[in-house]
Amino acid sequence: MMDLGRYLADEMLMRLARWLRMAGHDVSNPPEGADDSDLIELALAEGRTLLTRDKLLARRCENAGASCLLVRSPHLDEQLSELWAAGVSMKLKPRPERCTLCNGILRKVGTRKIDDSSSPVDNDDALWRCEVCGKLYWRGAHWQGIRERLEGRGR
Ligand SMILES: [Zn+2]
Repeated sequence: MMDLGRYLADEMLMRLARWLRMAGHDVSNPPEGADDSDLIELALAEGRTLLTRDKLLARRCENAGASCLLVRSPHLDEQLSELWAAGVSMKLKPRPERCTLCNGILRKVGTRKIDDSSSPVDNDDALWRCEVCGKLYWRGAHWQGIRERLEGRGR
């Protein structure tokens, strides 16, 4: 089983990239206006595996000696299954570590005030903030759903 990896997602796979970050992977977004050559260069320079649905780009990547994973399905659940089959870890991290939007590192900034006593029992009300874009994260009732999607790989 491959451990946590470093990836570079192409524009067609931004949604998949968000899910991979929830599994703890380091997934870069493509720089604004980057063309295929830029992506390949970046993958090589930063030692990242390029994730793409573009067969031509995948072939160019291989020819350039860059690591690449060709994703075939347009559907998120099938994409997760494909990566899982390729040995990519799909376990939800118990603590969020990376911003799902921008791949920034998250810092714990305290705990959330819960006024709603009827909220589901979840003692972990820690709050994290992205160092780069400022987005806040906490574990809520949606957490279990995320886990099921990542680890269930259902259709
Ligand atoms: Zn962020």
